[in-house]
Amino acid sequence: MKDYKEFVEIFERVGHPPFRARQLLNDVFNRGVADFREMKNLPVSLRDFLDEKVPLLSIEEKKVSVTPDGSVKKVLFGCQKDGKKIESVLMRFKDGRRTVCVSSQVGCNVKCKFCATGQMGFKRNLTYEEIADQVLYFILDLKDYSEPITNVVFMGMGEPFNNYEEVMRAVRHLNDARAFNVGARNITLSTSGIVPGILSLIEEDLQVGLAVSLHAPLQDLREELVPIAKKYPLTDLMEATQKYIRETHRRVTYEYVMLAGVNDKPVLAHELGKLLKGQLCHVNLIPYNATDTIYRCSRKKAIEDFKEILETYRVPVTVRVSLGQGIDAACGQLANG
Ligand code: SAH
Ligand code: SF4
Repeated sequence: MKDYKEFVEIFERVGHPPFRARQLLNDVFNRGVADFREMKNLPVSLRDFLDEKVPLLSIEEKKVSVTPDGSVKKVLFGCQKDGKKIESVLMRFKDGRRTVCVSSQVGCNVKCKFCATGQMGFKRNLTYEEIADQVLYFILDLKDYSEPITNVVFMGMGEPFNNYEEVMRAVRHLNDARAFNVGARNITLSTSGIVPGILSLIEEDLQVGLAVSLHAPLQDLREELVPIAKKYPLTDLMEATQKYIRETHRRVTYEYVMLAGVNDKPVLAHELGKLLKGQLCHVNLIPYNATDTIYRCSRKKAIEDFKEILETYRVPVTVRVSLGQGIDAACGQLANG
């Protein structure tokens, strides 16, 4: 669904005042009315116009998978404009958080060696509307249970900073109190380390969270796993995150996927500890979810040992609880259905 600004522009063109945009958003987000014809506050002529010319959702549900306990729901969408397929995941945590993991691109050109999305190559960027609609779908879906969406993470398909403008417009739409009203602090952008994106984010007047996919504390190994590291070396990346921390006073999350025999050795835990020591950060160790690659997840003991070594450097670290593996909805398992 379009944002406030775009509705105002459309309405101006057809001779309706801006407050109609506010009414429309109120109907969708506060009253759960997802059909223009049912928006009784709007003049009939405007309802007819919208119904005919402006599709409410830019994506449509193609396939739904739910875990047996109902905590994770994965949805495959088709884009209205060209039928391209994307996936999103809703996670319902025990503590009440309702988190939607959204895609920002169809495919991804970063091509990380261990990632299912990376293996499918890059198809196109999503529009801000296609990104936000992944969240709107779940809002409308959860309406009956009156569970608001509390968090949005850009951890689905794609590299958000390779689609910067549309991603930021989606973030503003999600954050807009007239529309989605998700707190900026509850929105997280996850990047494979696109340095210009991190630097631009520092300049935005938005308190969104930043997660950086590090995966290795040494340049050579990082290049092997995350090819974009050739373009944006570890030294530049660390400079950018340090600047981010200095200027925003916000903590950076470093994601580190645990790959058996590749990046889980104790010596690498020491290197990571030295690299991050003293930074306002948090490390999230992600047990690798098997996909169609040569990689396997580290053993539980290796992950525990890695964590303990990091803690000796006083680097805050947690092991991510992975949800949704049974339905291929976990991190890095999103591809094309
Ligand atoms: N493209 C962005 C965000 C999407 S992926 C990025 O790379 O940061 C979100 C996280 O899941 C990233 O840290 C990514 O490296 C990780 N990931 C990718 N494939 C995975 C897999 N198969 N198992 C576990 N984590 C994976
Ligand atoms: Fe792209 Fe992220 Fe997958 Fe790397 S891990 S290929 S950046 S989606």
